[in-house]
Amino acid sequence: MIPRTHPRYESLLIREKLVRGFREGIVHESGLIAHGRGEAFDYLMGEKTIDISENAAKVAASMLLLAKNPVISVNGNVAALVAKECVSLSKAIPAKIEVNLFHRSEKRIRDIADLLRKEGAEMVYGENADKRIPGLDHDRALCESEGIFSADVVLVPLEDGDRCEALRKLGKVVIAIDLNPLSRTARTADVTIVDNVIRAIPNIERWVKKLKGCEKEELVSIANSWDNRSALKEVLSYISKRLNSLADI
Ligand code: ATP
Ligand code: MG
Repeated sequence: MIPRTHPRYESLLIREKLVRGFREGIVHESGLIAHGRGEAFDYLMGEKTIDISENAAKVAASMLLLAKNPVISVNGNVAALVAKECVSLSKAIPAKIEVNLFHRSEKRIRDIADLLRKEGAEMVYGENADKRIPGLDHDRALCESEGIFSADVVLVPLEDGDRCEALRKLGKVVIAIDLNPLSRTARTADVTIVDNVIRAIPNIERWVKKLKGCEKEELVSIANSWDNRSALKEVLSYISKRLNSLADI
């Protein structure tokens, strides 16, 4: 048990969730390392949602509402941290959910799908993968024809750079959540929400609910207003300014 008074309570709680997910076979061992890279960036940003990422969540919500076949891709870390929130978001949009793993094993796919169903998902894709994302080797290319393969907009919280690029090449609009503004995923996606998935998924849902009644033209104009390159520049500039101000103390 982590004492609530611990100054790093939130962060330790997240780690505990991942360790539990690892012990239950939901999280791959490399997921624990990936989290370390992510939380280092979270630390640099002050462990909060910065304005530009709030805006990215709004743009993402508009794109998901405009999509004909939006899909939320769920991997081990995402399932361990925000399974319930992903199911809730999928219902609010509405969007499909597909379990998509970098280190694929049929058992882990099934266990994650079961967890999502336990959290209320009526339909989970990924267990019957029948297509391959072109340009990727190994089983990480597998996906479902009714899910990611035919999606027009894909939300990929914590995606690998290679697969993000392959999805773009397949003509998908890719929305990534990635705490590292320098990662290939962050640089390849159409919209990168540089934030912790813990905060980003509920944030997107809040925007989905807010924007749901809007005219299509308004959503299109929000979506078109986004320039991912300059947004990432802004994030980097935010981090460097913050570090400089801390160095001044
Ligand atoms: P890329 O392949 O895109 O260059 P990478 O190889 O550095 O990135 P991966 O191991 O492929 O990274 O994926 C992990 C990514 O997920 C990292 O960029 C990390 O910042 C991010 N990440 C980890 N945990 C979280 C989290 N809780 N919220 C948001 N992002 C996270
Ligand atoms: Mg990678």
